[in-house]
Amino acid sequence: MKHSQDLNEDVGEILLSEDQIRIKVVELGKRISADYAGRELTLVSVLKGSLPFMADLMRQIDLPLRIDLMEVSSYGGTATESSGLVRILKDLSAPIDDRDVLLVEDIIDTGLTLNYLIRYLRGKNPRSIKVCALLDKPARRLVEIPIDYVGFEIPDAFVVGYGLDFGEVYRNLRFVGVLRPEAYES
Ligand code: 5GP
Repeated sequence: MKHSQDLNEDVGEILLSEDQIRIKVVELGKRISADYAGRELTLVSVLKGSLPFMADLMRQIDLPLRIDLMEVSSYGGTATESSGLVRILKDLSAPIDDRDVLLVEDIIDTGLTLNYLIRYLRGKNPRSIKVCALLDKPARRLVEIPIDYVGFEIPDAFVVGYGLDFGEVYRNLRFVGVLRPEAYES
């Protein structure tokens, strides 16, 4: 993989601008605050891709809330395709039994990772569990899972930025974009 020193040069198309993302995150935060009014929430986010979304979303939710972080890696796939085989690298640091849990995800692609996580978290006996994903690629879905809050539906393209990487790079871009083909060439 060859990336430029100026990462912006590797992006062929900006799919979602910084402003579009900011407006959407405010909107999601308002909806979640209204839906859970009078309750306490536990936000669980999945490292590393969901980190910017989690950081921005939690500050738009006006409720008493806790956060927890998991890290998973899917293995057996390629740099741009997930395999559905999920390994937990970091588990929750506190119990979630009897808690209202909102799983905060960067992107739902095949749905295999989410499917695994939901089953895993249900086993910890939360009061409720819902899902908030910034990006949804419905065209590639292999497992049908209801996503309660979706930021944007996007076409079937491999995207980077706002947390999402290619080869661990590009996570710090403030927008979501599609890489130029040259950036994929090794
Ligand atoms: P799924 O299991 O739904 O196929 O994939 C979920 C995970 O694959 C996401 O959390 C993300 O880490 C990765 N992923 C899926 N699509 C993309 C994409 O377009 N760009 C990047 N950077 N990662 C993706």
